[in-house]
Amino acid sequence: MVTKNQHIELIVSRIEADQTGHWSVYFHRPANFVFAAGDWIDIQFEGRQLHGGITYSIASSPTESDMRITFREGISEFKKALQSIKPNDRLTISQYGNDYDFQLKKNQASVLIAGGIGIAPFRSMLKEMFDTHQDSDVTLIYLNQNEDFLFKDELELWSKRLTNLSISYIATKDINRKKREKLILSLVKSPHRNFYISGPPAMVESNEHLLIDMGVEVRDIRIDSFGGY
Ligand SMILES: Cc1cc2nc3c(=O)[nH]c(=O)nc-3n(C[C@H](O)[C@H](O)[C@H](O)COP(=O)(O)OP(=O)(O)OC[C@H]3O[C@@H](n4cnc5c(N)ncnc54)[C@H](O)[C@@H]3O)c2cc1C
Repeated sequence: MVTKNQHIELIVSRIEADQTGHWSVYFHRPANFVFAAGDWIDIQFEGRQLHGGITYSIASSPTESDMRITFREGISEFKKALQSIKPNDRLTISQYGNDYDFQLKKNQASVLIAGGIGIAPFRSMLKEMFDTHQDSDVTLIYLNQNEDFLFKDELELWSKRLTNLSISYIATKDINRKKREKLILSLVKSPHRNFYISGPPAMVESNEHLLIDMGVEVRDIRIDSFGGY
């Protein structure tokens, strides 16, 4: 686990509605703030201590000029404040980093499994791959309850240009667990890959077990578990 404690000021540039029930907040990129694709930040409104989840994956890539978080709408004090944020509002990052080496290994075959909003750190990684013309062998398996897949237009564009990037979208609402697991296993061609799982804890845990049962070594599985859901 690599975590850095540092007080970094964030200034909001804009907020945008994404797919139904999801929002992105964009910040001016703080000077000298260096992060890696896959990192998360702990944020709080300046001068306030609001209740709710404060940890968000950085959904933008280090190659982009603005910094972006994308979140699922909620009802906590913190979420309500995020949803009504205005340009020039100020927040602070108190900690940032990544858990369990959650960073893509360049030029190695990787399988990314996203559940819903768990796509956020993968957007960062794939956008970086696209912008730096790194055509590594990457399979993204993107699970979502319905057909409203966040970032789908961008993902489609990147997969057209990156010939070794393949993306499968699985809407889970109409399929049972058995069918879902069968589908995932059919897309994971070999246990000898780097695996990354990101999403709500129950989704992360069940896919971790699925991979271990198919023979993947625990050391080859990296997880980003979005506590709070
Ligand atoms: C490493 C890491 C990275 C993360 N990255 C992200 C990220 O990129 N994006 C992100 O969104 N989250 C992310 N999270 C989770 C985030 O930190 C919060 O925990 C999560 O968003 C829940 O927020 P909240 O606790 O403020 O509650 P809320 O979102 O307000 O939810 C609180 C509870 O109310 C329920 N609820 C929400 N809305 C309604 C409603 N309308 N009616 C009834 N019940 C409702 C929720 O299901 C939940 O049980 C990450 C967490 C970790 C640990």
